[in-house]
Amino acid sequence: MSNAFYKVPTPQNETILNYAPGSAERAELKATLEKMTAETIEIPLIIGGREVKTGNLADCVMPHNHKKVVARYHQADASHVAQAIEAAAEAWKTWSEMPWQERAGVFLKAAELLAGPYRQVLNAATMMSQGKTCFQAEIDSACELIDFLRFNTAYMTEIYQDQPLYSPAPTWNRSEHRALEGFIFAITPFNFTAIAANLCASPAMMGNVVLWKPSDTAVYSGYHIMKLWHEAGLPDGVINFIPGPPQEIGAAALNHRDLAGVHFTGSTKTFQYLWKSIGDNIENYRSYPRLVGETGGKDFIFAHESSDVQALAVAMVRGAFEFSGQKCSAASRAYVPSTIWPEVKKRVGAMMAELTMGDVSDFSNFMGAVIDQRSFDKCSAYIAHAREAADAEIAFGGDTDGSTGFFVQPTVIETTNPHYKSMCEEIFGPILTVYPYDPAKLDETLELCDSTSPYALTGAIFGRDRGDLVKMADRLKHAAGNFYINDKPTGAVVGQQPFGGGRASGTNDKAGSRLNLLKWTSARSIKENFVPPHQHPYPHMLDS
Ligand code: NAD
Repeated sequence: MSNAFYKVPTPQNETILNYAPGSAERAELKATLEKMTAETIEIPLIIGGREVKTGNLADCVMPHNHKKVVARYHQADASHVAQAIEAAAEAWKTWSEMPWQERAGVFLKAAELLAGPYRQVLNAATMMSQGKTCFQAEIDSACELIDFLRFNTAYMTEIYQDQPLYSPAPTWNRSEHRALEGFIFAITPFNFTAIAANLCASPAMMGNVVLWKPSDTAVYSGYHIMKLWHEAGLPDGVINFIPGPPQEIGAAALNHRDLAGVHFTGSTKTFQYLWKSIGDNIENYRSYPRLVGETGGKDFIFAHESSDVQALAVAMVRGAFEFSGQKCSAASRAYVPSTIWPEVKKRVGAMMAELTMGDVSDFSNFMGAVIDQRSFDKCSAYIAHAREAADAEIAFGGDTDGSTGFFVQPTVIETTNPHYKSMCEEIFGPILTVYPYDPAKLDETLELCDSTSPYALTGAIFGRDRGDLVKMADRLKHAAGNFYINDKPTGAVVGQQPFGGGRASGTNDKAGSRLNLLKWTSARSIKENFVPPHQHPYPHMLDS
């Protein structure tokens, strides 16, 4: 194959289909859901392209109907991690040498398969196992993932084109971007199918090989992603699928000398554990593992007195409750001037009264259930705490029902205490806490917003006057890696708002950007001298 410097197609964001009644996509998705729901599949590990059945089975269930088992999956143990590392090492020999254009071709093909025949399969899988509505699945498992694949191939070519600026005669300076030596350990969360796929795809695109441990509650969609990679022509062993108990799998991979990097999205606690384990083991690695982690958040909406109250109320409702508040970017605390809060509250309450919750295969629902029993219990505990607290009350919602699915009603807690528990801690459910503040204390309240939680993922400010907006944006400069002005803090789009946070929210390597891909390559600087010197003395050493 030629080594010509081909250009990849100029990426554009995938158009979001709307699933309106009568649309072709709605009919296709409904039929796919029906077919997939009727089956209970068996999911093997996939190591070096081989299906491995360990016999140690666990269930994948629907969050909104937890008695419905959609799949039974085989769980890996430490011996399978060892096999996966071996298979990856074997694949590395050819994949890391594969011309980048050919690697791009695999992922561009995957994007087209996903835009076409795989779209409704992945959407249905994401609805069934992660409890997303059709629209939330469409923007995640279809559009965001397609965007990741198309944009990242373009960013990859920018990296390879990046060469030293100067080569004084008679030399030629070059940069060679090599794959990392060893394997990348991708550890992925339940809440975005696109994130899970991208945590594997972006290192693989750069010539690396991957061990993929999906979340226990997203194994089903993960398995369908593996089928997508296979159909797109990804060679066996480049991405190895090893679901199972996190601690055992984690320890086996993290202790291996060939660990070249960790690509993680999930909670802050888990990432801090991974970082510590790697630190403790640092003498034993072949190279310093690259650590990329996008972690927890306590995302805010901060309103100025001059805010458009309707726009603010819509942002609070959409920002807090879509996908049951389980987006890492979901608004979970709001600071609203006490002067406008009564009006904002009235509008938020009216909108919340219209939010429908239930089985996501009923397309009229706005939202489904939270992911699992643990999340249901956690949300219930925060609601119970607010019911008892002297400094907080439930303004709206507050019901829970775990009998059929893990349903938590969208809930607004109102507090007089800016340090109230649910103003500070990540809940990861459909619970928004509002602190009405005295508008005469804008500066102090901005300071509170900045310092209340250890996180800095997303945040939004609302207001009209440009001077006020500038002041708020400046004061909250380090409070969020993704910052919104007069818009909800969710819904980042690849190629438009690269995503990631700072402080305890992550390493801010911005998924879906060149910054992220740079982590998965190791540059070799090459100097060639066309006319090397033939004398060893330097001029200052010569006789005068
Ligand atoms: P989690 O930390 O519970 O799990 C994430 C992954 O880590 C899972 O695959 C899990 O099995 C694995 N894991 C857990 N313990 C491990 C161990 N000891 N060794 C190896 N792997 C281990 O997170 P979750 O509940 O899946 O996702 C929700 C969290 O993710 C929230 O905190 C949310 O804010 C965060 N999140 C952040 C972003 C972002 O971009 N910042 C995006 C999505 C989710």
